[in-house]
Amino acid sequence: LMMLTKKLIEIRSILMSIDHNETLRLPSIVVVGSQSSGKSSVLEAIVGHEFLPKGSNMVTRRPIELTLIHTPNNDEEYGEFPQLGLGKIFDFKKVQKTLIDMNLAVSDSECVSDKPIELRIYSPNVPDLTLIDLPGYIQISNRNQPESLKNKIEDLCEKYIRGPNIILAVCSANVDLANSPALKASRKWDPLGLRTIGVITKMDLVSPQAGAAILRNTDYPLHLGYIGVVCKAPENASNGNMTHALIKSEEAYFRSHLIFNQRDIQVGTATLRHKLMNVLEQSMGRSLYSIVDAVQRELEEARYQFKVQYNDRKVTAESYVAETMDCLKHDFKDFANNFGKPQVRHEVRTMLEQKVLDICAEQYWCDEKIAELPKATPEDIYWLYKVDFASAALTKSGIGRSTTQLVVDVLMSNMERLANAESFSYHPDTRQQIMNFTGEILRTKFLATSDQVENTIKPYKFEVEINDTEWNEGVKRSVTLLEKELEMCDEMAASIKNSVGKKKLKSAINYLLDSQREEARRQEKSQSLDFNNNNNRQSSHQQEDDDEEEEVVKSFYNPKLLEKAKDAIYLRDRAMILKYRIAALKSRQCKSSENKQYCPEAFLNVIAEKLTYTAVMFIQVELLNEFFFQFPREVDNRLVYEMDRKQIQQFARENPPIQKHLELQERKTKLEEVMDKLNYLVKRQADRQSSSNAN
Ligand code: GDP
Repeated sequence: LMMLTKKLIEIRSILMSIDHNETLRLPSIVVVGSQSSGKSSVLEAIVGHEFLPKGSNMVTRRPIELTLIHTPNNDEEYGEFPQLGLGKIFDFKKVQKTLIDMNLAVSDSECVSDKPIELRIYSPNVPDLTLIDLPGYIQISNRNQPESLKNKIEDLCEKYIRGPNIILAVCSANVDLANSPALKASRKWDPLGLRTIGVITKMDLVSPQAGAAILRNTDYPLHLGYIGVVCKAPENASNGNMTHALIKSEEAYFRSHLIFNQRDIQVGTATLRHKLMNVLEQSMGRSLYSIVDAVQRELEEARYQFKVQYNDRKVTAESYVAETMDCLKHDFKDFANNFGKPQVRHEVRTMLEQKVLDICAEQYWCDEKIAELPKATPEDIYWLYKVDFASAALTKSGIGRSTTQLVVDVLMSNMERLANAESFSYHPDTRQQIMNFTGEILRTKFLATSDQVENTIKPYKFEVEINDTEWNEGVKRSVTLLEKELEMCDEMAASIKNSVGKKKLKSAINYLLDSQREEARRQEKSQSLDFNNNNNRQSSHQQEDDDEEEEVVKSFYNPKLLEKAKDAIYLRDRAMILKYRIAALKSRQCKSSENKQYCPEAFLNVIAEKLTYTAVMFIQVELLNEFFFQFPREVDNRLVYEMDRKQIQQFARENPPIQKHLELQERKTKLEEVMDKLNYLVKRQADRQSSSNAN
């Protein structure tokens, strides 16, 4: 007979995992009782172990959905928290500790939570039962609690106490039943007492006569009756099963008082267990047909939705992970195919050309004697040194490091782009992982590459051989570069002019130039005056006057305008020098590399080109090829193969549309599974009915 309960308990567990709005409910036994009524003792007597959190009432803030699974062919006794996935817990002290922790996880502000803790206990010594332990704290609304909390507790209570659940009202024998909060709650939700079982605990604390009177229940009759128990846990509570010892001492107590042997009286934990099993079985039997209908309806809806929304297309978390990673690898391949030597060369060349411009600006264009360069004699030591110095500034600037770093940066930014692709928008952690191992691969290659490059360009630090073609190309490129630079100068000058206004800028420039000239003159004068100490005092006097005057004029021009005027002057001077240098580079003087000291821009450009060529050759081999080879393998190793089932599920569910798809699919599958089981049970019930009819 009990087979039905067992099967329906299984089904109940499946339904609980997919049904969040509780439309598919199978009956359970909800246990209510005020604090220290002996509620925990009763539950533990049924289970045979101490496992419930005790002590401070505040600890219990969530209902416990307790599923007992009778395992006749297995000696093992253990608990399981399906929500936590901790596996089998054989130590019931640990079960207790876990329950306490899960209760404490509810914040003080939330106070109570209606999210039940699921606990399954497997044992050959337990009956198949599902029990819901509503913490005492939840049942009794306290006068000091705020109104909102009271409502919360009421709602929670209602949710569990309503039919078809069976109410197990636990009352202590030594407390007047009229004051029992458990019976009060039961009467509120089950006024006829049709689905309430009264459990009277601590029968040993009242006289047998008084105890028997309570059990006869004349004052508060319950259809399912009252059962008296003595559930004092034995002193030597070990991890072993305590049911037998407990029942033995309880039986001894009841046997020693004849009054409890009368027919109309039910006593003992064993009786209670049987009663619970029978009542639950009957209730399950009554619920069978209605749950079949409900599941059928839900299944049809799920099938319909699956067809309409997904056209019956199945997804698995595994296929989603594979697809996403393939997408990444595909994008990567695209990138690798399009990022070869020419692209790297372009990047490196651009950087080195900028370096050349910087060196020229610093060493030549800011040199006051630059105008004299074309007229200098070929033996002029100044310019000969200078060109050597400039070329050393380029070749000894740490080319190995800077070029490798540049390529690493370009790779990183491209990888960032790939990792930021839409397919990863829901997976920020994976994105971070991709960037992390990209960085790792590149870091391991970095030193070797930059050392290689530095070694191979070493000869250029001492000597650079240049043929005519190389020189001509270098001249051409440097002219182009300078022209571009000139263009930029002009553009910037024009934008300043536009933003300030031509007239205003001109007058500010004139003012600045005037004061510069004035300053120069004054310096000259003060120098000559310095020789003449007598006039010193007068001169400083004079200066103060001048300063005052300047203040007046300065206030005419705001400092920002003067800044801009300064920039404009700088740009004008720079443009002039550039024009001048472009002309020099185009002149006869720069037709041959023999005259390199006259054309440093061209010379440096030729070196830059040689450096580029050499550096890229090695970067390609040491860094790029290695990276392109290794990255897809790391994707496999670190992302695809590394993920266990749980991580795969988690990854897929990070994507809300996939999550929805998987959920509906899972719901459909589980409902189908449930429907199969139910159909089997219905058929069995029908068979039994017909056979009993035949008898
Ligand atoms: P809960 O707060 O309702 O869970 O109550 P407990 O199960 O923790 O029991 C409260 C106290 O009553 C504990 O000290 C138990 O040892 C004691 N107790 C429980 N059942 C019995 C019983 O049948 N007889 C006696 N004498 N004490 C009991």
